[in-house]
Amino acid sequence: IVCLKHIYKDYQQGKLVVPALKDICLEVEKGEYVAVMGPSGSGKSTLMNIIGCLDRPTSGEYRLAGEEVLKLSDRGLSDMRLKNLGFVFQNFQLLPRMNALDNVALPLVYAGVRKSVRRRQAYEALVKVGLEDRVKFLPTQLSGGQKQRVAIARAMVNQPELLLADEPTGALDSKSSGQVMELFCKLNEEGVTILMITHDRGIAEYAQRMVTIFDGELSEEKQ
Ligand code: ATP
Ligand code: MG
Repeated sequence: IVCLKHIYKDYQQGKLVVPALKDICLEVEKGEYVAVMGPSGSGKSTLMNIIGCLDRPTSGEYRLAGEEVLKLSDRGLSDMRLKNLGFVFQNFQLLPRMNALDNVALPLVYAGVRKSVRRRQAYEALVKVGLEDRVKFLPTQLSGGQKQRVAIARAMVNQPELLLADEPTGALDSKSSGQVMELFCKLNEEGVTILMITHDRGIAEYAQRMVTIFDGELSEEKQ
C-alpha cells in the first residue's frame, strides 16, 4: 500500500540545510503492522508527515494506494488524506469544546457526509473502541487512555486502509498503553494496515515488523 523510493528531505533553516531524511526506501504491504523506531531527532515525524501526505519530500518517489502521490496537487493530497488515511498523535489532538461524538464525526464533516449519517458512523466508531457510554463527554471529562481511544475512533471513522500513529502511547501509563495496543491489534486483524512510530521497544513489539531510523537513515530490524 506504501512504496517509498529514494526519499530525501532537507529542511531549510536560514542559510543552514538540515538533511532530515536520506535515501529512504520502504515498502509496506496491505495488512501489515509496522513499527518505526529511532532516537529523538532521527526523522521519524518527518517520515510520517511525508507518508501521511502532510508534507512533500525534497526528492524521491512515493506511491500510496496505487497513486503517484508526488504528482498530485495540494487538493489531491488532501483528498488522499480524507479517503485513505487515519492519524493518531501522542497528544490526542481532540477539539476541547466538542464532545466525543462530534470529535469523531469531524473528518466526515470535511468529507461532506450528511449529518444523520455522520452521527451514526461516529457512534459506531465509538462502539468499536468501547466508549459508547462516553458519547457526550468532553475531552476534559475523559482519562488519557479514553481520549486516545476517541482519537482512534476519529482516525478510523472514514474507514481508511492505512492508520498512521506518531507515538500513540507516549502520553499514557502502561495500562492505557496496553489497551491502545490491543485496539491496534484488533484493527490490524480486521485488515487495517498500521504504521506506528514509537521509541519504546516494548510497544514496538506489538507490531509484526520493525524498522529503525538513525540520523535520517532507515534500516530493517532482523526478526
Ligand atoms: P522526536 O522523537 O523527538 O519526535 P523525530 O525522530 O520525530 O524526533 P523529526 O521531528 O522528524 O524527528 O526531526 C528530524 C530532524 O529534522 C531534526 O534534526 C529536526 O531538527 C529537523 N526538523 C524537523 N522539522 C523541521 C523544520 N520544520 N524546520 C527545520 N528543521 C526541522
Ligand atoms: Mg517526532
